[in-house]
Amino acid sequence: MSIIRVLADHVANQIAAGEVVERPASVAKELVENSIDAGATRISIEIEGGGRRLLKISDDGTGMIRDDAILAFERHATSKIRNSDDLAAIGTLGFRGEALASIASVAKVELVTSLEGSGTGTRVTIEGGRMRNVKDAAHPRGTTIIVRDLFFNVPARRKFLRSEATETFHLTNLVTHYALAQPEIAFTLVNNGREVVRAVAAKDLRERAYQIFGSEFLENLLEVNGGHPQLARVSGFVSAPRDRRTTRDSQYLFVNRRFVRDRMINRALSEGYRSILPYGVYPAALLFIESPLEEVDVNVHPAKTEVRFRRQAAVADAVREAVRAALASAGYARPDERPVQPVEELSQSVAAGSTHQVEYRVPSAPAELNVPATAPAKGEIESNPVQPRIDFVPPTLPKDDWPPVSSPIEATGDEIAHDIEEMFRATQAERELRSESYLGEPAAARATLPPLNSAQKIAREVTAESLGSNIRPLGQLEESFIIATDDEGLLLIDQHVAHERVLFDKYRALEAERRTESQQLLVPETFDLTPAQAVVFDALAPELEHYGFELMKLSGRTVAIKSTPADLPASEARNMLAELLDTVDPEKKNSARDTLRDEIAASLACHAAIKVNMPLAPEKMRWLIDRLLQTSSPTTCPHGRPVILRLKMRDILKGFHRI
Ligand code: ADP
Ligand code: MG
Repeated sequence: MSIIRVLADHVANQIAAGEVVERPASVAKELVENSIDAGATRISIEIEGGGRRLLKISDDGTGMIRDDAILAFERHATSKIRNSDDLAAIGTLGFRGEALASIASVAKVELVTSLEGSGTGTRVTIEGGRMRNVKDAAHPRGTTIIVRDLFFNVPARRKFLRSEATETFHLTNLVTHYALAQPEIAFTLVNNGREVVRAVAAKDLRERAYQIFGSEFLENLLEVNGGHPQLARVSGFVSAPRDRRTTRDSQYLFVNRRFVRDRMINRALSEGYRSILPYGVYPAALLFIESPLEEVDVNVHPAKTEVRFRRQAAVADAVREAVRAALASAGYARPDERPVQPVEELSQSVAAGSTHQVEYRVPSAPAELNVPATAPAKGEIESNPVQPRIDFVPPTLPKDDWPPVSSPIEATGDEIAHDIEEMFRATQAERELRSESYLGEPAAARATLPPLNSAQKIAREVTAESLGSNIRPLGQLEESFIIATDDEGLLLIDQHVAHERVLFDKYRALEAERRTESQQLLVPETFDLTPAQAVVFDALAPELEHYGFELMKLSGRTVAIKSTPADLPASEARNMLAELLDTVDPEKKNSARDTLRDEIAASLACHAAIKVNMPLAPEKMRWLIDRLLQTSSPTTCPHGRPVILRLKMRDILKGFHRI
């Protein structure tokens, strides 16, 4: 007797549902996509009990006639494609004809719909895949779908659902994403009777992002606008380097307005931040890629959350370049990748350092800074004049030239509002201080209390293009920060991170040219690896050798350091290696070799750079500033921290009540 049978439709649907319907948010995703495909201008979502008890989605889209409303629940029933040729260029979010059938097989569903001009609407009731009822029902043009008791007939699935709070979080996230992807559609989300998202129709992403996140969020983002129309237009927002995450959770990617996950794009995004953010630290991003339909295959994943590009590598390049350009126009990087300083010049300074062999290793005085105290330092500056200011001005629009945005983000108005708000906060802060600890103080002391947030607001990070060549060091603060002036005001330069940036660029350039230099240790240093470090060591050793390390594995897990890269004090070599071996993920070695090399250069730079609490002679400060200005990114260190803060003349004058 034959033992193979064709499964009943409702069983097949439940199997398909296993892939499509993972949790309430996946139901919402399919239904919202259907509403968008139906041309809705308004979509409202209501949820109860984390979407498990109730999920209700209404739209004002085209609606359906009675026959279609019934057919819609059949498996492989769709109005969006007709034949396999259509699969080559899918312009709708849905196309598989599976969602409604899958959802209806694992929940109690009611659909009410009405097509304009077709008389009364229709109500279809279906439970666990079984049609219960079809009758006339009034409904304005559009469709409402109510999904109750999700997984009521699949106890195994129910068990996998998380707490109401978690499921609500996923639902809110989902609605937020679609609202961002479709600014011109009005969205509302009501959770247990309380409205949590309300976004009226907006004119563009910027306005929508403002509606959803508020102005503070936008202030901290850089606008991306690049790519190639025939291949991939890339737009959206990315975070400034100081805003750092340890996961990719804050990266939202959309391809042709479809919310997707894509490791290739994630990687390209990180590449855009190369040498600005360290390895293992991720930016936040809201990236939209628009590609011609035939360039993208969306039929990759049952839940349609993955896509495949015909020209993967070119799309990755477009993303990387667009992100890089955004960082450059905000002054965090130069748009091009080439090393800025000619290598000849760099190796000169290394050679100069390596004449000191032994003294050189005194940790408090790295060789690079041991420039002669007299004329040569100045000579060096003159022979390597700082590149003209124009060089730091990226070819793209500066931030201030962003296209104007409709209120309430109008630049000038906002600035005034901001000032007023700051004044208010200051007085508020003063009041609080007075009522707490300053009650008994004399009136004069009270009057001079600065606003609590003044330091953060007044000394600001600088952009690369605002840096001219006429920076004059005046001295040091706490032997850690260089105090300097320029045309725009007073500068504070963090000496450690400034030197870190200089060394990073140097190591990177020398490595790229295979011209790193090393210094032999008189007595090799040995150190023992942990088992985990030993695994990483084998993968990392060749890369380390590119940078001038000479390493030898002795018996077992003992390693001898025979030579170290120029400038790295011997006492730091072990620390640096241990730190790298603990943080680098060897698995990623091949896929992101450049990132790994950046990571090594950043670590080297950090350990070789002058420390804080170190006195610097005026010539050394001068030298450091001049070198810093020649780097690829003088305003951020390789770990993303700011290098320079500026107190603007205007703020100084304001502070003294002179304006
Ligand atoms: P798909 O979206 O892949 O076509 P679905 O199962 O999600 O498959 O939907 C089946 C069909 O039902 C759609 O092709 C569409 O014609 C119709 N439909 C579903 N939801 C709506 C809606 N909100 N408004 C109008 N038509 C809808
Ligand atoms: Mg669909």
